[in-house]
Amino acid sequence: MLIVGLTGGIGSGKTSLAEALARRGAVVIDVDGLGRQVIGHGGSAVEAVVERFGPEVRHPEGGIDRTALAEIVFHDEQALSDLTEISHPRINQLLDEAVDRVSGDSIVVYDMAVLAESELGWSNRHPYEIVITVETPPEVRFERLRQRGMSPGDARSRMESQASDEERQAVADYIVANQGDLADLEHVAGEVWSELQRLHDQKRRPLD
Ligand code: ATP
Repeated sequence: MLIVGLTGGIGSGKTSLAEALARRGAVVIDVDGLGRQVIGHGGSAVEAVVERFGPEVRHPEGGIDRTALAEIVFHDEQALSDLTEISHPRINQLLDEAVDRVSGDSIVVYDMAVLAESELGWSNRHPYEIVITVETPPEVRFERLRQRGMSPGDARSRMESQASDEERQAVADYIVANQGDLADLEHVAGEVWSELQRLHDQKRRPLD
């Protein structure tokens, strides 16, 4: 098995790259989705989050009201770090359980917005072994978020709450520029896939 941490700033195109790798055979795990799961209905982080942020973040239909929580944490660094401390160990546990279900000869890709900022996907039993970061100029990312219906203020504060491109570069083994169109990204995905297969095969080769 080879485990890859795939990250990039919000709107950079990491999920698009993950999907292209999945079409080639990668097993993609949506780590951001696991993050939603731990604060969703019956999620393992719900009670701890309510204890820290108050009953007003509880969703009337169960779980946490993500909009209310985002309002707090994307404007308050301490709150974001408290949420990280509560949620990341629980997400790591779900991640390990997901990898336990994957066949041993797979190339696994963790699709994760938050990588450089914390030990998510790294301090768990199945840590990522290499890191790929997707880079797209901030103004293009901002425009993509606007097209998704996000307000300019929200788009800006979410981008600012994440690690910078420089911080992601510092932990990355590979940097994928996603400045072209989707066809260009598809082409790059082919190259990335060949490289991942090479690394995977190299790991499997017995020492002489
Ligand atoms: P998030 O962190 O918000 O999940 P992301 O980094 O996973 O974002 P994607 O969801 O892959 O980013 O891409 C954001 C949007 O930009 C999507 O609508 C996607 O189709 C589009 N997109 C990604 N790459 C390109 C590209 N090269 N050209 C045009 N559109 C693109």
